[in-house]
Amino acid sequence: MSEKKRFIDKGTFYWHFWDKISVKCPTCSNQALVLKENLEARMYSARVSCIHCGYNDSTSSTSWKGAVIGHINRPCPYCGRLIKKQLNGPKYLKFAHIKCTCGLEFDEPIDWEPVYDNKASDPFFGLPLWFSGYIFGNELWAYNSEHLKFLKSVVEADLREIQGPKRTLSVSLPKWILARNNRKEILKMIEKISKL
Ligand SMILES: [Zn+2]
Ligand SMILES: [Zn+2]
Repeated sequence: MSEKKRFIDKGTFYWHFWDKISVKCPTCSNQALVLKENLEARMYSARVSCIHCGYNDSTSSTSWKGAVIGHINRPCPYCGRLIKKQLNGPKYLKFAHIKCTCGLEFDEPIDWEPVYDNKASDPFFGLPLWFSGYIFGNELWAYNSEHLKFLKSVVEADLREIQGPKRTLSVSLPKWILARNNRKEILKMIEKISKL
């Protein structure tokens, strides 16, 4: 009988792979790198640079390239009724035209906020991840090659053991990644993605 493969999770979370993230360059579509900067006061500080076209940027109030959601939340200046609105875009439209039930019409500035729920993008700029591919109708993705290695060792393990805190990355992975029946295909996909 062959020896069972064991995976021991000592407490790995997504952010353990955030030091260096491979993304698709927004200018030339080649591989660009997002490097996290360790400045304590600025949690979400990073730089992105592309060696292929020279594109580079650092995190600022305008550097987010991912999905956004707009909010309007203020009382009507005439009748005082609270006007609440959520907008999906177009991105960076500055004002929305509001028509209150009292008849007053006015333009109100929109507050745009990044949406972080697309996991297949980097958490600093919202750029699409380089290491990603579709399998079983789902997107399999990783921040970098260390993350891919981590996924591989979780997927190929016969025994998974947690020695650290609960709710770590290996536990919170979607069921289709962890399903024993999918193992062969997922490992093939990880192999394919790592050669991108
Ligand atoms: Zn580029
Ligand atoms: Zn009104």
